[in-house]
Amino acid sequence: MAVPRKKVSIAKKHQRTSTWRTLKMKKMMNKMKLVACPQCKTMKLQAHVCPQCGYYKGTQVLTIKAKATENAVIEA
Ligand SMILES: [Zn+2]
Repeated sequence: MAVPRKKVSIAKKHQRTSTWRTLKMKKMMNKMKLVACPQCKTMKLQAHVCPQCGYYKGTQVLTIKAKATENAVIEA
């Protein structure tokens, strides 16, 4: 089995990882487009139902029982 001639130094390993990480983050951020909800003006994902008010394209799709809690109950 082929074995690398030299051990990769910690600094080199970190450089490679950080470059890869920034590229991945850029790709992810390009995929996630945030837009302001026309109903409640909070930031939401584009072409998704707003998790704050439950509106999509001007019509209420979801009724959200509890607001501003961590485990908000979403009813379809
Ligand atoms: Zn909204």
